[in-house]
Amino acid sequence: EKIIIVGAVGGGATSAGQLRFYNKNAIIKIFDRDTVMSYAACGTPYAIGEVIEDEESLLMANPEQFKEKRNIEVHLKHEVTGIDRKEKRIRVKNLETGEQFLESYDKLILSPGGTAVMPDIKGAQTADIFRLRSYNDMLAIKEYIQSHKPQSCTISGAGFIGLEMAENIKELGIDVHLIHKSDYIMSILDEDISREIEKELLLNEVHLQTNAYITEIDQRTQTLSNGDRLETDFIIMSIGLAPNVGLAKDAGLEIGTTGGIMTNDYMQTNDPSIYAIGDATENFDLVTGEPKRVPLAWPAHRQAYIAAKHINGEPIEKKGLLGTSVLKIFNLTVAMTGLNENTLRNLEIPSVSIVHNGNSNAGYYPDHGKLKLKVHYNPDSRKLYGAQCLGTKGVDKRIDVIATAIYAGLTIDDLQALELCYAPPYSSPKDPVNMVGYKAD
Ligand code: FAD
Repeated sequence: EKIIIVGAVGGGATSAGQLRFYNKNAIIKIFDRDTVMSYAACGTPYAIGEVIEDEESLLMANPEQFKEKRNIEVHLKHEVTGIDRKEKRIRVKNLETGEQFLESYDKLILSPGGTAVMPDIKGAQTADIFRLRSYNDMLAIKEYIQSHKPQSCTISGAGFIGLEMAENIKELGIDVHLIHKSDYIMSILDEDISREIEKELLLNEVHLQTNAYITEIDQRTQTLSNGDRLETDFIIMSIGLAPNVGLAKDAGLEIGTTGGIMTNDYMQTNDPSIYAIGDATENFDLVTGEPKRVPLAWPAHRQAYIAAKHINGEPIEKKGLLGTSVLKIFNLTVAMTGLNENTLRNLEIPSVSIVHNGNSNAGYYPDHGKLKLKVHYNPDSRKLYGAQCLGTKGVDKRIDVIATAIYAGLTIDDLQALELCYAPPYSSPKDPVNMVGYKAD
């Protein structure tokens, strides 16, 4: 059997390794148009901020290692330009030589990721503008900072990457202006939680403007939609991710309403020989069953496993996604899972919420922090819908527990009864998760 994979990073490299684990004999080949493979994209903001000193530690593997240890051929600087579904072969272009060739497949896995959106702004070519998607994007930003020694930066878009960059650039001593199009930052959070992050940005002297975006650029000057002008040395665009679906679309594979490649329970597209995984795909929400796209590393790795299992003849069905995620912003951590207030309102799902303001662990223990935990649930069935948590310590574990509870179909009342670990440095005899359950009584 011959399996071809498009994309050699999050989903692609993982599925290749998994396939080899199950099948020692299959021919497995990966093509990626980039110059590096298997890098930890998630670590790139911290390499820019010099929290991670050796950026090469983000490179997890290279083609030689893949060949030697796993007998998997990885062809970098090779772009897949077309899929001939009838003949079951792809068209590949060697980006170094310009040579084009056809490569046959029995199974094809698409893990092409997404592209950071670059809006068309008048005068953009006169400024130093960067995006952060790939390892090479990271190198470009690092090199710029080292050679130009900039004093100031504008970051457009306060989602995960924008916020991680705001922190890391600020920590380098560079003045940061963060602008965001909507009324509050991090639209996947509830407004009250987002406002707390905005306060943390203020405390750390990041200049934030909401309800604003760049309309025009003239070298160091950016004109904003609200009429304001900013003067900064460089710009980072972090306004979103467009799934790379061109290849799939041209091949007649179905694209879903969220813009991702449609996949069935086993990550197959509407062509059973072609699988799609990772940021480029559309999946569904675990709670509502509605189409959902979650461009994060957990889904990419999980879907790589599900596709590999199916190809190996041991199918396991994918589950819906909760979009469980976490972010560090200076001294705060914010984490979330499941549905937020906006989604509940838009889908007209009846819900109530409990907010618990407490401590991460025993208040008499020196190392504790304030913690806010907010949980949404159905007032009749009492089933959990989603949760958000904010604080300086122990935030991620509370959300991980609630993500597990939602997965298991637990109710708000079950949260009282969970026997969670306790000693003063870690929690209280009634954990914040328990407290939410008690408060709902
Ligand atoms: P990618 O890893 O993007 O890989 C796609 C590959 O396909 C690319 O290398 C591309 O060159 C190649 N490709 C595309 N089209 C073609 C073609 N036609 N021919 C050949 N090759 C092609 N997720 C988290 O869960 N937590 C985090 O903290 C986090 N932080 C992040 C921080 C940053 C700065 C970034 C950019 C991402 C972060 N992510 C995080 C997201 C995570 O990295 C992605 O969800 C994951 O990498 C997705 O894997 P993928 O295989 O779908 O796409």
